[in-house]
Amino acid sequence: MFGASVVAIENRMVHVSDGRRQRAERIIVCSESDLQTLYPQTLAESRLVLCKLQMLKTAPSHRGESSPHLASGLTLRHYAAFRDCPSAPALQARVQRETPKVNAYGVRVMASQLANGEVILSDSRENRSDNSPFDKSEIDELILSEAKKVFRLDCWGVTERWNVIYAKHPVLPVFEQTMEEGVQLFLGTGGAGMTMSFGLAENAWRDWLGETS
Ligand SMILES: Cc1cc2nc3c(=O)[nH]c(=O)nc-3n(C[C@H](O)[C@H](O)[C@H](O)COP(=O)(O)OP(=O)(O)OC[C@H]3O[C@@H](n4cnc5c(N)ncnc54)[C@H](O)[C@@H]3O)c2cc1C
Repeated sequence: MFGASVVAIENRMVHVSDGRRQRAERIIVCSESDLQTLYPQTLAESRLVLCKLQMLKTAPSHRGESSPHLASGLTLRHYAAFRDCPSAPALQARVQRETPKVNAYGVRVMASQLANGEVILSDSRENRSDNSPFDKSEIDELILSEAKKVFRLDCWGVTERWNVIYAKHPVLPVFEQTMEEGVQLFLGTGGAGMTMSFGLAENAWRDWLGETS
């Protein structure tokens, strides 16, 4: 069901806000940054935090034949997979010394060019302890100044700015909990969910099938 909000799950019955209901043998809740609608108590105790990211889009620049997605060295600070690199602490220390605000706002820079030449520049990270809907222009300026150090574009004019919220766990790659037989919470993949989801899902599915067989 698209365009449907699930408001409750009880005895393997999914209740939708418009009154529809659907029974299922197995229900997996992947509600990501909505920590309030389903199982709010469990999610409040889960240690999941909401993280806000700011992003920008530029006017078109010339597009070469192949235009790969590019990530600067700052990006390496964000992923656990790079923590074992011998040079990681030195990189952290250098960023802290030279550009402390880049650290404070979790700025890393990545560039993805669209077919029409526009470039998406990302991003920053702030734990969303306040509920402010507003973006910080200081963060946008930091993203732009760090991007200009490593990428060359014909046009740096920003045409769109936006933010996104995701949920992440301080230690776990994903937060899992069984809520009743056949009903699992599975969320909080945070900044690595696009890359890891297929693997996480396959492993979890195998475990769940193993449980029932
Ligand atoms: C700016 C940004 C940059 C990122 N960069 C990377 C990256 O470089 N590499 C990487 O691996 N990952 C990255 N990620 C993370 C990745 O996008 C997420 O981890 C991934 O999208 C999570 O997938 P999901 O399906 O669990 O949640 P989502 O994609 O958030 O989908 C959850 C869906 O559930 C719906 N929903 C919630 N509650 C209900 C309800 N009660 N009823 C019905 N529907 C509901 C929501 O509307 C939403 O559509 C990035 C994320 C952002 C925001």
